[in-house]
Amino acid sequence: MALLQIQEPGGKQAKPLHRRAVGIDLGTTNSLVAASFGPGVETLPDSADQHLLPSVVHYAKGKPPLVGVEAKALLVDDPLNTIASVKRLLGKSLSELKAKQDYLPFEFDEARADGAPAILTEAGSKDVVQISADILGALVERAESSLKGTLEGAVITVPAYFNDAQRQQTKDAAQLAGLKVLRLLNEPTAAAVAYGLDSNDQGNVVVFDLGGGTFDVSLLSLKNGVFEVLATGGDTSLGGDDIDHAIAEWIAAQLQESAGVAVPSIARLRQLANAAKHELSDKNQTTIVIDEWSALLDESALRELTADMIRRTVTSCRRVLRDAGLSAADIDNIVMVGGSTRMPLVRDAVAEFFGKTPLTDIDADKVVAIGAGIQADVLIGNKSPDSFLLLDVNPLSLGIETMGELVEKIIPRNTTIPVAKAQEFTTFKDGQTVMSLHVVQGERELVSDCRSLARFELRDIPAMVAGAAKIRVSFQVDADGLLSVSAQELSTGKKAEIQVKPSYGLEFSVIEEMLQDSQSHAKLDMEARSIKEAQLEATQLLDAIANALLVDGNLLSREEADSLSESIKALEITMTTGSSVQIHAATEELNKASSEFAAKRMDLHIANALRGESIDAVEK
Ligand code: AMP
Repeated sequence: MALLQIQEPGGKQAKPLHRRAVGIDLGTTNSLVAASFGPGVETLPDSADQHLLPSVVHYAKGKPPLVGVEAKALLVDDPLNTIASVKRLLGKSLSELKAKQDYLPFEFDEARADGAPAILTEAGSKDVVQISADILGALVERAESSLKGTLEGAVITVPAYFNDAQRQQTKDAAQLAGLKVLRLLNEPTAAAVAYGLDSNDQGNVVVFDLGGGTFDVSLLSLKNGVFEVLATGGDTSLGGDDIDHAIAEWIAAQLQESAGVAVPSIARLRQLANAAKHELSDKNQTTIVIDEWSALLDESALRELTADMIRRTVTSCRRVLRDAGLSAADIDNIVMVGGSTRMPLVRDAVAEFFGKTPLTDIDADKVVAIGAGIQADVLIGNKSPDSFLLLDVNPLSLGIETMGELVEKIIPRNTTIPVAKAQEFTTFKDGQTVMSLHVVQGERELVSDCRSLARFELRDIPAMVAGAAKIRVSFQVDADGLLSVSAQELSTGKKAEIQVKPSYGLEFSVIEEMLQDSQSHAKLDMEARSIKEAQLEATQLLDAIANALLVDGNLLSREEADSLSESIKALEITMTTGSSVQIHAATEELNKASSEFAAKRMDLHIANALRGESIDAVEK
């Protein structure tokens, strides 16, 4: 029987449902929302045709929060109730925030029962999640009125080195705003998605993202529509806000030199500084005016004020190149993202370092949101996931503690994630039925120099001789950076596992420090590792001889026993004081000294076997 074809009235073929999903760039200074319209993804404007929503929220008693341009206009007049740059406060404790109070004109709520950092406003106590949720709420409202319906999901971008607490708070804010988070996406990766699909480029691309509060640099390889992040780096506390701060301090210093002129509020100084900075992106000099007073700031003075910050960005670029094993000449394109890359001095520094003019034709403000919008379109099912593949990397090596407190790296740093790797381990002692697993993160050779992530135990291993059990340890890191470790005894299938979030609490500065430490200690670490390995080998031999002496000690003459015990003593002393080479030599010496004893034991066991006893039985 033939199937009836059902057609819509009017004879039109039913169109596949286009689901409403958006990409959101939740920026320190400005935020954007992008959605797909037909083949392309575009950022959505408000009713005044403004695409950028200032990430500023104003709270007033008995009124809903005011977000965006109107809130920004109240920054100077009502600083206590107007909150800007909330992204910089995410994931921080109250004490960390208070330590930064000179930057922040807020009053913190000390009386909150849960101890979470919150700001006292006229409309009550507002925590950082609530404030971020209010910004997201304004973007949701804009998107829903533009797309004429309820949103089904969003991809939200975060700086590559946001730690777990910061990522979690971003997710919590989205939930509070009624948004379903399809995925958090690293900002530079999002930019590359937009850039790569725009131009169908091939080769190595650096995404240099200097925004208001954060700096991220990523090195990506683009091949046949596949994005692979080769390395990432940056600084979570470097951006246009710091440049404003440096200019504001310069203005305050100039004012202090001119007696009789009152220094305005921090908020006013920063507003003046920001305006001067913007003007210097188009002109060679600008005049800062406060009442009757004025001062001239020119490009070269700005270069001097920002030299240290620019140097820090270049250092991060150098490190990312080194991590990926590439040189500046291997880079085909540099993509500039973030408002601060409009500064000519930033572009010059990047051009000088890479020896190429960076690409600036992509809208530096919109590119991240557009990339997130493209990803959202794929994740919600509007586009085939085959249209591109997105790969990320893990920032630090993940491994396991082995005997002698050594680290065995299972997933080296900068491995593309998601990834799964397994390695086989065995028991160290005869009859060992429990194995403790210690999961660590870091680049150093000794456990004590790495970061402990988790510990768990595999129990009920069948009792066997040392080295006979086979335990398969598997590491798996998913696309969100979540690590699962499992250990399985292969003969029984007995398994134990644990989940960890390796990025938890790791600031970029800590990662940086761990990497620097591993480089500066590389030689010493290798020697420490060799010593530990030599000591382990020696311990195994000493244990085996001690066991053999207990069973078959009577096979040795007095002289033979004395000579053997001298070699044992020599090895025991060398083990605690000697280098790895000396320990190896002493172990070899003891091996030789015990060879006669081993031969006698073998003869005896063969004789016993011939009498019907199995070699296995006597060897135990
Ligand atoms: P973002 O976080 O990407 O929105 O970047 C915002 C930062 O870019 C703020 O510090 C702005 O002051 C800065 N910015 C935007 N446009 C310019 C410009 N034309 N010149 C200098 N800085 C700018």
